[in-house]
Amino acid sequence: MLGKQGSGKGTQCVRLSHRYVIPHISTGDMLRAEVKSKTPLGLEARRYLDAGDLIPDEVMLAMVASRLDRDDTRTRGFVLDGFPRTVAQADGFEELLKPVEIDLVLNLMIPTELVLARLVSRRVCEDCGAIYSTSTPPKFNWTCDICGGDVIQREDDSEEAIKNRLNLYESATAPLVARYEAMGKLVDVSGVGSPDEVQECLTSVIDAYQHGGGFFPPVPSEEKL
Ligand code: ADP
Repeated sequence: MLGKQGSGKGTQCVRLSHRYVIPHISTGDMLRAEVKSKTPLGLEARRYLDAGDLIPDEVMLAMVASRLDRDDTRTRGFVLDGFPRTVAQADGFEELLKPVEIDLVLNLMIPTELVLARLVSRRVCEDCGAIYSTSTPPKFNWTCDICGGDVIQREDDSEEAIKNRLNLYESATAPLVARYEAMGKLVDVSGVGSPDEVQECLTSVIDAYQHGGGFFPPVPSEEKL
């Protein structure tokens, strides 16, 4: 899944992972878990995360390679969230997967004005990563409805780190859109709308892909954002 910060990638990937019973691999969640457990990688990664900078490509590739080595991805596949995020990561990832290729790249599109408002009001569960906002808080005292963990504002959801992440998205990640489009794997889906509406668009694309043996029908989407 491609899409800038605040496009709803995390929310939608969790939903897709439940619906299709496919492991959800979120590099952001994996890194935050390392930071929380104070592993050597976590201690090193923390300064990048807090500033909204990208972790070096080799570190990310090694982390994803070890995750993809687990049996669940071999039997069920995976939905990838937050990776690849640079051209070098995409190159390394393709090598890693060979001879297998990814099926689909879903590009969640949303105007930047909307993501800024979403990110500033975003709150997340420190333990399971469930996503809330100041307008849709958990039921009880900022305690996660799902696991009881503390619901907090991410360090990198400060205004400065958000700007940095959005700039990095444009310079480092956006080129991947053209890459996957040229490979015939990209489908644009509008990220504007309620989570249910966006999910419906995504599942209609995936279902058509599954049933049509790889043929992509035109997807109703907003004009290119
Ligand atoms: P967001 O998409 O809102 O930035 P994520 O949870 O996907 O949130 O990522 C949070 C942070 O984790 C990023 O700002 C970056 O520091 C780090 N990170 C996650 N995935 C990658 C990646 N593929 N390459 C480099 N850094 C990454």
